[in-house]
Amino acid sequence: MSDARTKVLIIGGGFGGLFCARRLGRRDDVEVTVLDRAAGHLFQPLLYQCATGTLSIGHISRSLREELARYGNVRTLLGEAVELDPQARTVTALRPDETSFTIDYDVLVVAAGMRQSYFGKEHFAQWAPGMKTLDDALGIRQRLFTAFEIAETLPPGPERDSWLTFAVAGGGPTGVELAGQIREVATRTLAREFHSIDPEEARVLLFDGGDRVLKSFAPDLSGHAARTLERLGVELHLGVHVTDVRREGVTVTPKAGGPAEEYDARTVLWTAGVEAVPFARHVAEVLGASADRSGRIAVEPDLTVSGHPEVFIVGDLVGREDLPGVAENAMQGGLHVAACVRRDLDGRDRRAYKYRDLGSAAYISRGQALLQVGPVRLSGFLGWLAWGFIHIAVLTGVRNRVSTVATWLATIARANRYHRAFMLGSAATPEHRYTWSTDDRPQSEARPG
Ligand SMILES: Cc1cc2nc3c(=O)[nH]c(=O)nc-3n(C[C@H](O)[C@H](O)[C@H](O)COP(=O)(O)OP(=O)(O)OC[C@H]3O[C@@H](n4cnc5c(N)ncnc54)[C@H](O)[C@@H]3O)c2cc1C
Repeated sequence: MSDARTKVLIIGGGFGGLFCARRLGRRDDVEVTVLDRAAGHLFQPLLYQCATGTLSIGHISRSLREELARYGNVRTLLGEAVELDPQARTVTALRPDETSFTIDYDVLVVAAGMRQSYFGKEHFAQWAPGMKTLDDALGIRQRLFTAFEIAETLPPGPERDSWLTFAVAGGGPTGVELAGQIREVATRTLAREFHSIDPEEARVLLFDGGDRVLKSFAPDLSGHAARTLERLGVELHLGVHVTDVRREGVTVTPKAGGPAEEYDARTVLWTAGVEAVPFARHVAEVLGASADRSGRIAVEPDLTVSGHPEVFIVGDLVGREDLPGVAENAMQGGLHVAACVRRDLDGRDRRAYKYRDLGSAAYISRGQALLQVGPVRLSGFLGWLAWGFIHIAVLTGVRNRVSTVATWLATIARANRYHRAFMLGSAATPEHRYTWSTDDRPQSEARPG
């Protein structure tokens, strides 16, 4: 191998980054580095099943080092990209101990994805976690199951009721999935395990600003989803914005005007919006690229940044109106960038990126899901079967697929959820111990040292 190999640096080992790296694997004229802040590939579409105790973190994630070990020309590094120097063609990254290192590139692929957005009200995050990472899923699992435990120790009354009330902000796929799953946990998994409380009395409130849930689906499918949720016992509140989140609950304001309403809910979950990760905003700034309000970066037809044919943007971060924030777009984008790199090396012209819409699916509850592929629309049990096949086909790693199917079958047969274990945090991470009174104090007082 010569030193003239093209150095491709991929920021992010999600769907876009992983598919790009795999497609460039085993080429002896390319040297690929995948830099990821979590060192793992996370299957975000099943995060809610991890959060609600059906699947473990091992089912929905895979070490990138293991996943890419078979490609001699691909290395993986753990680190968070923090700085881009487009003149020197280097990216600086932080190790977990906050020391830094620098990687150089000939081609840069920014596939770092989005994070939860609180629309400028970052203080909501303390009481209303989002769902984008494994930490989020485990944090939600802790809040969900400890809420029932706390309620069990309280006498009947408003305080106990507030622990048995769960508010979900955002009626997109993630909000719908979470709301449905919490009711299933209450009515099936926990139904006969408590002595003092009746988990089936748990209220699940789903808030959304639109006039229907699952707006990206056809109206008849979204109507089906709403009816299924209501049958499950989810209370739908449409046309409202969650305008305040605090320790004891939420304030909700009608979009059309009118008085705000307060709900006591000790568990609040936030799925209402996304924004680009900080590194992507930095990339747009140093490259002089325009970005939309959420931080998605404008691209040329081949997915490069204008004036920088060596910098590609992939997946959720791409700021082009016709591209949805779904896994399929990230995977196709990753493959497209790999094809561009290969064409450059072969002296051929790059092609424009064309996204092929292969449809979308959303889970509502056991035996109920939606599938929309062009004119084909499935709901109910058929939709659920199709949903299951699609997710298993895309899940990374054969072992993960086999064990996920086995776990699903066990969960269908019995009411149990096998992955309910949660962590309590420690004195050094008081934010995890949200029931501690220290959390009411300012962070500087709450943290030792
Ligand atoms: C809860 C949930 C459910 C979803 N359900 C579906 C679904 O059912 N169907 C569907 O098609 N899509 C679904 N999506 C969307 C889908 O997961 C995304 O569209 C897809 O993951 C985008 O891929 P990506 O490669 O752009 O980014 P990601 O998959 O988000 O990967 C980004 C990677 O970059 C890393 N990273 C971030 N910042 C840095 C940094 N500074 N330095 C180094 N590494 C960094 C992260 O660790 C991560 O591994 C869902 C998303 C969520 C959150």
